[in-house]
Amino acid sequence: MRDQYGRTVDYIRVSITDRCNLRCRYCMPEGIELVSMEEILTYEEIERICTAAAKTGIRKLKITGGEPLVRLGCAELIGRLKQIPGMEQVTLTTNGVLLKEQLPDLKAAGLDAVNISLDSLDRESYRKITGRDQLPLVLESIEAVLESGIVAKVNSVLLKSVNEKEWEDLAGLAERYPLDVRFIEMMPIGYGRQFEAVSNEEIRKKLELRYPEMAADEREHGNGPAQYYQIPGFQGSIGFISAIHGKFCGSCNRIRLTAQGLLKPCLCYGETYDLRSALRTEKKEEGEYLLQKQIQNAVAGKPEAHCFEAVQEITEDRKMVQIGG
Ligand code: SAM
Ligand code: SF4
Repeated sequence: MRDQYGRTVDYIRVSITDRCNLRCRYCMPEGIELVSMEEILTYEEIERICTAAAKTGIRKLKITGGEPLVRLGCAELIGRLKQIPGMEQVTLTTNGVLLKEQLPDLKAAGLDAVNISLDSLDRESYRKITGRDQLPLVLESIEAVLESGIVAKVNSVLLKSVNEKEWEDLAGLAERYPLDVRFIEMMPIGYGRQFEAVSNEEIRKKLELRYPEMAADEREHGNGPAQYYQIPGFQGSIGFISAIHGKFCGSCNRIRLTAQGLLKPCLCYGETYDLRSALRTEKKEEGEYLLQKQIQNAVAGKPEAHCFEAVQEITEDRKMVQIGG
C-alpha cells in the first residue's frame, strides 16, 4: 500500500497487552491505570486484523505491548500469525525478562527476530530505570537467544542524568555479541515528555572519538529508520533511531495497532481508526470488509511527518505502554 506521500506502508506494530512486568520511568511508572480485559482484543481478533492487513499489503509484523510475553499464549499467537498468507515476517519486541523461559516455544512458533529493550548494564541503574531488579534475567535471555539462532537486536533509550553515560557499555554489547545495538531517542509521548532526549548525534560523535575507524554501514538491517555504523572488531553494528534530532518521516513504513484495537497512522497524533468496532459488528463478512477498509483509511490518513519538535502540537495523549512504541 502506498500512502498519499508515495511511501510504501507494509509494516504493522501490534500491541497485544497494556500490562507489563517492569515499570520503566518513561513508559509505565508505578500506579498507571490498566484497561479492562474486555477492552483488549482477543487473539482471534488480532489474527483477523492481521489477516485483513496482509490482504491490504502488510508484509511484516512486530508484536509489542506493554510486555507481550506477560500475556499467556503469546508464542502460540505468533505461530498463528506466521501462517497468514502474505505475512513474510513476524518479530517481537520484549524487555527480555521472560524471554529465556519462553524461547523454546517462540522458536517452535517460527519467530523471525527479536528486539530486546535494555537501557543499562549496571544492576542498580537498571533497577532505578525499570523499578525491578531483573537485569540478570535479561542478560541470560540475550545469551539464550543468540544460542538459539534467532536474530536479536538490543534497543536502548538514554535518559539525561540517569544512564546517559552508559552509551559505551551498551555499545560494547555489539562487540561482545553478534547483535546490533540501537540507541533510540526519547520521544515526547506519555511519560517520555518528562525527560529530555539525549541527542543521538552527540552519542555518535562520542563513539567516533572513541573509535575513530567507525564507518557508516549501508547494509539492510531491518524494517526501521535506524542509521547504522560499523566498528572494526565489533560483531554487530551500532544503530541510531533519531526521532527528534534526525527526522525520518520520509521513509515511514508503518501503522500501529493498540491492544484495544485502535489503528494509529502516526505515533505523534491521537487520531485512530477503530478496528474493534468493525470486528465486533454482527455480520462477520461485513466486518471483514470494514476491517480492510479501515486499514486502507489509516494508511491514506498518514500525516506527512510527526511534530515532536513542536510539543504543543502533539495530540497523542496515550502512554507509550498503551501504544507499543
Ligand atoms: N515491553 C516491550 C519492550 O520494552 O521492548 C515492548 C513495549 S515498549 C513500549 C517498546 C519500546 O518503546 C521499548 O524499547 C521502550 O524503551 C520504548 N519506549 C517507551 N517509551 C518511549 C519513549 N517515550 N521514547 C522512546 N522510546 C520509548
Ligand atoms: Fe514495560 Fe517495555 Fe514500557 Fe519498560 S518500555 S515499562 S518494559 S512496556
